[in-house]
Amino acid sequence: MNWNKPLPQPTPISAPFWDGLKAHQVKLQRCEDCGQWVFFPRAHCPACASTQLAWRTVSGEGTLYTCTVARIPTLPEFTDEMPQRLAVVELDEGVHLNTTLVGLDDAQVRIGMRVRPVFDERPGTITLLRYTGTDSDHPAVITAHAQPEPAAPAAQAPAARRRQISCKDLDAMRALVSETYSGWSDSIQVTQALIDQFAELSGDDYWLHTDPVRAREESPFGTTIAHGALVQVLMSRLKVPMDYEITGFNNMVNYGSDRLRFPTPVPSGCHIHARYRVKAVERVKSGVQVTMEFNIHVVGQDRPSVINDLVVLYM
Ligand SMILES: [Zn+2]
Repeated sequence: MNWNKPLPQPTPISAPFWDGLKAHQVKLQRCEDCGQWVFFPRAHCPACASTQLAWRTVSGEGTLYTCTVARIPTLPEFTDEMPQRLAVVELDEGVHLNTTLVGLDDAQVRIGMRVRPVFDERPGTITLLRYTGTDSDHPAVITAHAQPEPAAPAAQAPAARRRQISCKDLDAMRALVSETYSGWSDSIQVTQALIDQFAELSGDDYWLHTDPVRAREESPFGTTIAHGALVQVLMSRLKVPMDYEITGFNNMVNYGSDRLRFPTPVPSGCHIHARYRVKAVERVKSGVQVTMEFNIHVVGQDRPSVINDLVVLYM
């Protein structure tokens, strides 16, 4: 599992909280002098300044105090998790903690609803604390090897049932032109290993692509990003749903691109998918020229990462 997102760094004071999550327990500090529950972890009681704070295991249950939906990533690494339901939960002990809601849709989220913890095991050493509704059937643990995958793409129509359109039938070909995009393709993950392979192949081994440590410090994106050209060629791996097939030609030539843009980066580790539309159909001297606009997006992102107006000549 490629993981390239920032994770909490436990300190000596907060380590018992993170160790508790690893054991699928929520632990809070409680002041032995005045009884105050304390979160976030601290050295002193915020009520009486006592240093006599003891760790206690609690149920972790509480109520939803407030919630918002983030549709623009808070950091580039989270582009594949949009939308994020950022929430504040009030535990039954009275403390508030910041979290992300999982397994709930808009209609199910209500301020004041009962919520329970979900232990989200990240690859490596950290388990994060998410929340879901007490009534939700979401599992209580998300294991590191079972991170949620993007939704399954629209199934490709079986070849036998696809409409056959002769490239010589110009009216039928022109009827394919549309402002509306196809359904989404399947998705693939742009891993650091894939980026490294492309860096070696192309000779473009600029640190912004290949050095995750330096990129975390110096990159405007906070992480390494895929080469635009890599994302562009990954189109060949994505299967877009097409309900027709063009027939009646002797030769099909990839004529190049009328427009190629890389409007937004693809951070390492993100999943991408694609969709297309037929933009133009023209009769030319040697046959019929079709311009297909292919757009590749990070899954969940409205803005494309690649726009490619591909020109195909049917002769
Ligand atoms: Zn106290």
